[in-house]
Amino acid sequence: MIVLKSPREVGLMRRAGVILSDVVDHLKGFVESGMSTQEIDEEVEEFIGTRGATPAFKGYRGFPATVCISINDEIVHGIPSPHRRIKDGDIVGLDLGCIVEGYYADCAFTLAIGDVPPRVHELLDVTRESLDLAITQCTPGKRLSDVSHAVQRHVEAHGFAVVRAFVGHGIGRALHEEPQVPNFGDPGRGPQLRPGMVLAIEPMVTMGTYEVRVLDDGWTAVTKDGSLAAHFEHTVAITENGPAVLTRRVP
Ligand code: MG
Repeated sequence: MIVLKSPREVGLMRRAGVILSDVVDHLKGFVESGMSTQEIDEEVEEFIGTRGATPAFKGYRGFPATVCISINDEIVHGIPSPHRRIKDGDIVGLDLGCIVEGYYADCAFTLAIGDVPPRVHELLDVTRESLDLAITQCTPGKRLSDVSHAVQRHVEAHGFAVVRAFVGHGIGRALHEEPQVPNFGDPGRGPQLRPGMVLAIEPMVTMGTYEVRVLDDGWTAVTKDGSLAAHFEHTVAITENGPAVLTRRVP
């Protein structure tokens, strides 16, 4: 069942989302070559705590950290470590969530560290653009797969691949609610979008195959062929007036 949120509930999710937006802005200047992924995790945990919110991922199904940090061929769910250091030329996916008064927000972005080849910049740009295009579909009367299709169409037009094994999700009083939001599929299918639905839309895009495998740590998902992967995510409310991006200061 898709749970519709009242304006008050969306307001609480926006408070959580604004904190995440501020974390993202902060991290864009903070993350640098030589830093361990654990240092990033500690910084974000403190930032979220200072703002009076609670990290959403720490302890979720046993996940040990505040941020999922996934580097290069890692797609999602990388575990921060004092032994893993960021290097020049890496692309670093940062996925984070927080809770305000019981309501969740979830977002992700991918940063290029130092010099990366033009095609890798394109991977990041196309993934971000596919999310923006998906968001424009979030108006009442559209169908869920219109969102999915917008991602797939843009990504594949640029010669990249969309991961199938992981999908976006409804979000609210739980991190993962119905419906699932795939990043692929034909348009015009699935439930009609209605005001009060809130979706975490999160394209995961690779430069090679869309097939994935999970490492022995039980969490880290990597591309099967070792190709690079990018990940961007926003929490988006459907309103009478169209999409409201809750994890951006300017919705
Ligand atoms: Mg998510």
